Amino acid sequence: LTGIADEALIAVDTVMDRIAGLAEPTLRLGVTGLSRSGKTVFITALVHNLLHGGRLPLFEPQKTGRLRHAYLEPQPDDAVPRFQYEDHVAALVKERVWPESTRAISEMRLTVDYDAGSFMNRLFSGGRLSLDIVDYPGEWLLDLPLLGKDFEAFSREAIELARLPIRAKLAEPFLARLQTIEADKTASESDARELATLFTDYLRACRADELALSTLPPGRFLMPGDLEGSPALTFSPLLPSDGSPARDSLRAMMGRRYEAYKSHVVRPFFREHITRLDRQIVLIDAMQAMNAGADAVVDLERALTGLMECFRQGRFNAMTGLFSRKIDRLLIAATKADHIHHESHERLEAIVKRLVDKASQRASYHGAEVATLAMAAVRATREGTVQQNGHALPVISGVPIAGETIGDETFDGQARTAIFPGDLPPDPDAIFTRGKDGEPAHPIRFVRFRPPAVETTANGAALSLPHIRLDRAMQFLLGDRLV
Ligand code: GDP
Repeated sequence: LTGIADEALIAVDTVMDRIAGLAEPTLRLGVTGLSRSGKTVFITALVHNLLHGGRLPLFEPQKTGRLRHAYLEPQPDDAVPRFQYEDHVAALVKERVWPESTRAISEMRLTVDYDAGSFMNRLFSGGRLSLDIVDYPGEWLLDLPLLGKDFEAFSREAIELARLPIRAKLAEPFLARLQTIEADKTASESDARELATLFTDYLRACRADELALSTLPPGRFLMPGDLEGSPALTFSPLLPSDGSPARDSLRAMMGRRYEAYKSHVVRPFFREHITRLDRQIVLIDAMQAMNAGADAVVDLERALTGLMECFRQGRFNAMTGLFSRKIDRLLIAATKADHIHHESHERLEAIVKRLVDKASQRASYHGAEVATLAMAAVRATREGTVQQNGHALPVISGVPIAGETIGDETFDGQARTAIFPGDLPPDPDAIFTRGKDGEPAHPIRFVRFRPPAVETTANGAALSLPHIRLDRAMQFLLGDRLV
């Protein structure tokens, strides 16, 4: 019954949205990716470029001079936190530090007035489009498969993954405690908390920089949003046992909490947010995974497969039992391309395509257009060449963040420095090859740079933030709705 009621509500919502949309056309754009993939920076840069008439030669509406005016408006959903655009811009532009990353869902509305060329748009929209941007952690999406799994299946798979060679060491304290805990005895809150903490610590350790493993569900264990410490997050997988658990056992309690997590956290998230999206961008940090080695790349691929699953219509409906609006464009983009020389940008793009092809091998996206891209939402570097032993080496330069190091040199956050980042492999398959002694086969010299100084006009107004191919992303995601 709940399923039917859900569907009816969503159908009513969709109709209401459509009716509202006739008077005022809207586009709901989802922005996701695992933590630190660049969501906050992407949204801030996109909005800043639209508001300040950025250099966007590949964004048709801008190129053809049809964009008239872009402005912020109150978002339509009062219960969702607003994306803190103003704070993020102040950090990037005034202080030249990277803004605070996404920790939960947030939303903002940007409205664009444009000269409508198409008859339909002139007639119905008067040349106005409201863009609702929804920012949310990719970790939460990876919970989708849980909806189709009971506690036993979840436990079995989570423990299997924890025992994989690359994870086993990190999972050791958790796995060891699982062996000793008496899950069929009467439950105690402290046992539940202890296991949940050990399990969360293990998931968190997997994300540490040098390992860069993508995450595993449950997504809220790493990105709890406002649920931190609640019983729905205080559970963990358990080793199997024979027979059915006693009602007051730890096993029964963990099972109940797992089900509560699904019904109170996962389903509402999909129902209230994901079903209403029109378009989606998924950001990935491919270079970080490559720097951590082939195992991390395989892991990223697994996460990407999971993320993309959520946008396959048939699959989504089957798993959630929810009826969703159709996402008609899906963009998978590698961010931070300003860390490599432009000669390697095509290679990075080939790598993203390779990851996506593998991830979507069995998937069909029923008419949804899927595209891939390498970009930098904010370009923190410039390019140049230096002569070394008679060869011209392509380098990038920028201001490394205070405390960054290369070799034994530590930077102070002020001086501009040129580095040779290294090349990406010409054959995208090479990212899956293992280096010697567990070293990554294709490391990139990766230094974190400060955000760039933004040019200002004569009267001191800030011009837009520099980027690489952000305009291509915008053309794919928005261009056709501004004709
Ligand atoms: P989120 O967790 O997905 O919201 O990630 P953020 O947008 O906060 O980005 C995480 C970090 O990646 C930032 O603090 C920056 O250091 C870096 N970053 C993100 N986007 C870019 C980019 O376009 N260029 C550069 N150079 N760094 C970026």
